[in-house]
Amino acid sequence: MSIVYIVSAPSGSGKSTLVAELLKMVRNLDFSISYTTRPPRGREQNRKEYFFVSRDEFEAMIAAGEFLEHADVFGNYYGTARRFLREAEARGHDLLLDIDVQGASQIMQAIPDAVSIFILPPDWETLERRLRSRGLDSEAVIRRRLDTARREIENYSKYDYILVNNLLEQSTDELKDIVLAERLRRSGTEPSVEEAQRMATAQACRLDRARERVQPILASFRRKESVKEVSGERV
Ligand code: 5GP
Repeated sequence: MSIVYIVSAPSGSGKSTLVAELLKMVRNLDFSISYTTRPPRGREQNRKEYFFVSRDEFEAMIAAGEFLEHADVFGNYYGTARRFLREAEARGHDLLLDIDVQGASQIMQAIPDAVSIFILPPDWETLERRLRSRGLDSEAVIRRRLDTARREIENYSKYDYILVNNLLEQSTDELKDIVLAERLRRSGTEPSVEEAQRMATAQACRLDRARERVQPILASFRRKESVKEVSGERV
């Protein structure tokens, strides 16, 4: 049985870089390339980052039951094709899904033993700075992403693991340790000393252990919310 790993994060939290690094380091882990109706950004290529399709094509795939999950994110459809899981299983590989919180809850219901990981930025200011420095989005889109991030992070407690992406190298190692620890745990084999260490790192990222670390981050997001309410600002 393949292990399904779900990774979710507000955009700008550095998730794509982390996932790309992880895939370079871990063997037998496939990335599920999603379908989307949003246009390609920057240097994105069809069939590499996403399958870019029209709304008609996407809706035909929904009707044909081809999606394991799908959701409307920022006004565009995004979906995970069932065939990716079938193909990973046939190869004896695990599968990594980079999907939003709506898609993640659908997968958690459909595949209860999927491993879910939520990546958080260190605080609101860092997220805002990262979104602006990417230079990919218009001001209106940045504000919408920040607003969505504020709502999305409140879902962190539905996930098995929480990763605070402060230093890329450290976060990549933690992500790798979570993936390997789950493989080890399910294989039931006795861990070596190094493996036991990895399992301990992964354990420290489990939701029940991470709650305290998450509080100041949530507080930095909530402060922004109250500022907006006081000033009556609308986005
Ligand atoms: P972006 O447009 O920045 O690449 O992605 C926007 C959001 O859509 C991200 O949170 C990303 O994780 C999510 N996303 C990407 N692919 C899928 C998918 O197949 N299903 C769902 N539900 N969300 C997805």
